[in-house]
Amino acid sequence: MQEIKSYEPNTKLKGLAAVNGLVMGVSHIYSRGNININPEPLDTGRIDEEIKKFEQALEGVGMEMQSLTDFASGLDDSDTESILQTQYEVLHDPEMKASVIALIRKKRIRAEKAIYDAFQKYIDLIKSSNKSFLITRLSDLRDVRDRLIRSTQQLTVISRFGKDAIIITDEVSPLEVVAFARNGVLGIICNSGGLTSHASIIANAMGVPMIIGTHTATRQARTGDVVILNGYEREVILRPDKETTELYKQEINRHNEEEKLLRKVINKPAETLCGVQISLQANIDFAEEILNVDKFRAEGIGLLRTDTLLMNSGTIGMDRKRQELFCQNAFSIKDSSSITIRLLDVGGDKLLDIKNQEANPFLGWRGVRILLDKRELLRSQLEAICRVAGQHPGRTRLLVPMVSTLDEFIEVKHEIEQTQHMLKCQNVPVDEKIRIGVMVEVPSVAIQIRLFAKHVDFLSIGTNDLTQYTLAVDRGNNLISSLYQPLHPSVLTLIAMAVNAGKENQIPVAVCGELASDPFAAQVLIGLGIYELSMTPRLIPGVKQAIRLFTFDEMKKLADNMLLCNTLKEISKIREEWEQQYSEKRSDEKKRQE
Ligand code: PEP
Ligand code: MG
Repeated sequence: MQEIKSYEPNTKLKGLAAVNGLVMGVSHIYSRGNININPEPLDTGRIDEEIKKFEQALEGVGMEMQSLTDFASGLDDSDTESILQTQYEVLHDPEMKASVIALIRKKRIRAEKAIYDAFQKYIDLIKSSNKSFLITRLSDLRDVRDRLIRSTQQLTVISRFGKDAIIITDEVSPLEVVAFARNGVLGIICNSGGLTSHASIIANAMGVPMIIGTHTATRQARTGDVVILNGYEREVILRPDKETTELYKQEINRHNEEEKLLRKVINKPAETLCGVQISLQANIDFAEEILNVDKFRAEGIGLLRTDTLLMNSGTIGMDRKRQELFCQNAFSIKDSSSITIRLLDVGGDKLLDIKNQEANPFLGWRGVRILLDKRELLRSQLEAICRVAGQHPGRTRLLVPMVSTLDEFIEVKHEIEQTQHMLKCQNVPVDEKIRIGVMVEVPSVAIQIRLFAKHVDFLSIGTNDLTQYTLAVDRGNNLISSLYQPLHPSVLTLIAMAVNAGKENQIPVAVCGELASDPFAAQVLIGLGIYELSMTPRLIPGVKQAIRLFTFDEMKKLADNMLLCNTLKEISKIREEWEQQYSEKRSDEKKRQE
């Protein structure tokens, strides 16, 4: 590994823009780090805050533990299960909780020190008991202790970041992105990561500019350095000199002006230059994003991810009421447009520690596979959705994720029918017209799409996964990010097959992967015959602006040319030509408006 010897001004690092944006701020190197206890006493005024932090850590670690326990029960490995069971019990032991809180109060020490001391009492007790069974469990106890301490320290570190902070870190988890965003950081820079990893998707949803794949950012930067994150140039500038700083201040102002211009398109219809209507819908991950549906004039919700509910719930078996509330919230959007609710799609990179348990998590226990193994989980989610759908008849579309065989889909459909029947028997209103669709994200579904199209009410193409599974390129691995090409002709061919199957069976076909939010790709998709695009609401104006400047025939020609490409070079050439054309059309439009 190359040693970084000096901290030169104007050091430039290249990466990939997971979330576009241009910001200047102060760098904070963030690392999950090792256990290091701070024994310093607390000011009396901070005691309640420290107890809250401990309770938050208990909830967060509880969530991880429950996920792991559920995961292990699917593995049928009794050793792992019993270890996790012990840890789970320790974590939920009311005596442990009470003694940590008592220590914080009485001794006025930090949560991390109180946890350490409280656990030490248990450890000493077990050691002196001489019971070999209990002694073998000591390492499990220490593991829970360390998880809790790490979690409180993480919360401390994260809550310390100010509003001008740009986080620099090796890698980032979806949960950390949420914590950073809620603390109002300006941006995130990572050594590694993938463009369509769930951490990137969440950063996008929360509007936090993020550059990934810089390889050495954590070693080249120091906490406190001024840093520029320039997503448009896929670049990070550490310690800019005076001249560069001035230049970028102007550049940031210019971008803010452009953003304002873009906002003008918000109230205009989403149609091509020749008047073909396109439905631009919203991808929603969090309750607080729902306001953005109306703000950016999305035509309904094209993808309501329910996975993020887990992040706050503390358990994989989510509380039904909580799920109902989440879905009910989504129906609060202004018009009566439809809402596509996707069933839980955890696994892959979406549950913190679980990925370490499987050799190939993206090919493993994920999405519908978990739902069919955990029927109670599936049934509780279906009941929540069907109850809410019953209050808004005709508006709900239900989407099944990570399907790879027709049997899985039929099984879920059967469960939905059972749930509706059960509710009807209890006189709970249901939506008889609820539409059930499948995510087209595994090539086996795309290949058998004519068969699937006969069983579903709509198709939704998940290009993030369809690309990774078709090209065998991990969506979260920046070592191979240049191979991750959602517009590769093989992916486009599968999309075109889905469009044709949709036409034959007269069912709608939507795209809800990140590809839909790329103005160039959106035109290719429309040219292929996709009339529903769903994306992070913030990105709708950019796509709408582009759509309004081209005719449908131009888009069709573009799509035909893309399908004829043999190499990635040919694809890049078409894209460059389009970018040139688009920039000319945009400046003509600007002149017309002036
Ligand atoms: C996709 O795979 O394109 C998709 C929309 O689902 P997710 O990103 O949640 O896997
Ligand atoms: Mg997917």
